[in-house]
Amino acid sequence: MSKKIMILPGDGIGPEIVAQAVEVLKTVDAKFGLGLELSEGKIGGDSIDAFGEPLTDETLAAAGATDAVLLGAVGGPKWDQLGRDIRPERGLLKIRSKLGLFANYRPAILYPQLADASSLKPEVVAGLDILIVRELTGGIYFGEPRGIRTLENGEKQGFNTYVYSESEIERIARTAFEAAEKRNGKLCSVDKANVLEATVLWREVLDRLAPEYPNVELSHMYVDNAAMQLVRAPKQFDVMVTGNMFGDILSDAAAMLTGSIGMLPSASLNETGFGMYEPCHGSAPDIAGQGIANPLATILSAAMMLRYSLDAEEAAKAIEAAVSKVLDSGLRTADIYTDGMKKVSTAEMGAAVVAAL
Ligand code: NAD
Repeated sequence: MSKKIMILPGDGIGPEIVAQAVEVLKTVDAKFGLGLELSEGKIGGDSIDAFGEPLTDETLAAAGATDAVLLGAVGGPKWDQLGRDIRPERGLLKIRSKLGLFANYRPAILYPQLADASSLKPEVVAGLDILIVRELTGGIYFGEPRGIRTLENGEKQGFNTYVYSESEIERIARTAFEAAEKRNGKLCSVDKANVLEATVLWREVLDRLAPEYPNVELSHMYVDNAAMQLVRAPKQFDVMVTGNMFGDILSDAAAMLTGSIGMLPSASLNETGFGMYEPCHGSAPDIAGQGIANPLATILSAAMMLRYSLDAEEAAKAIEAAVSKVLDSGLRTADIYTDGMKKVSTAEMGAAVVAAL
């Protein structure tokens, strides 16, 4: 049975890094007989230039008819002056909300070979392997009412609404419990239940579901403490689950524990298992076109795609092992380069992963 993948390279370094991930996918396809069918579309500035909007309904429909999407990155100075509604980032928000991609997986893994790249002491982070599960389509980023209004006294007031329904909490909680079951069985739910009622309900729902997952040890932590613990002793965590805003902030902090944003993949899934896979970083306009971007975050995103949407665990593991082998051999793109290693280009790094496979 064939598996359909839509490739959306996007802007900046997007096309450069995605090209390497596509070569890796073709290699595992041949090796494991996966029957992958790849198609390509436009998103972000690339789509604005071609069609006048960051994601057309045709591309959205085509993406929704596949099993998974692999995305590079969107955005860049060329489109920064455009109105809010047609900026490149709107394309991302549109695909996430229209395809119901409510669960965002952000692993923060520190490869032992790169322990020196972290700003924390190697002993604090060596061997770090945590997964942050962030709710992506609700919470304060989407809550209504929202806006900026003028009060009777003439003063302006900005306001947003932090809202979560029980069903929204339950589906992200189940996703996180299931992820923890497949890992080390520890789930830490992050909230601000001492102040925010929306997160009092969040905590109640997590507690109600916990008995259904006897192999998972559930704990709760306030977000301020979680931020502190992430930089103090990050290895205490296995899976963390939290709402949209807290997850946005904590997952970026966790990303930096690993030293390079060029190494970090992500997945956004809906209830059917369909997912969009992309590196955590942006389009890096400062280095676009120079052939020096690190393609490993995108290659590792392709591995997550095989695992979570295409039911091809063996191929996913093979890619992750190949990346580890390439790092063992001392090859480094500029962002993860340290003395004594061999500096390579985007294409050389991609080719090395293909060769290791
Ligand atoms: P960025 O992640 O693009 O870049 C931050 C820094 O990290 C830059 O110095 C960049 O050179 C470096 N970097 C990023 N990815 C790298 C890689 N693979 N290899 C080597 N170095 C890498 O963030 P930014 O500069 O804040 O944003 C640039 C553009 O990207 C903006 O238009 C922003 O809106 C957009 N953006 C898009 C996404 C996305 O597509 N999901 C996410 C974040 C930012």
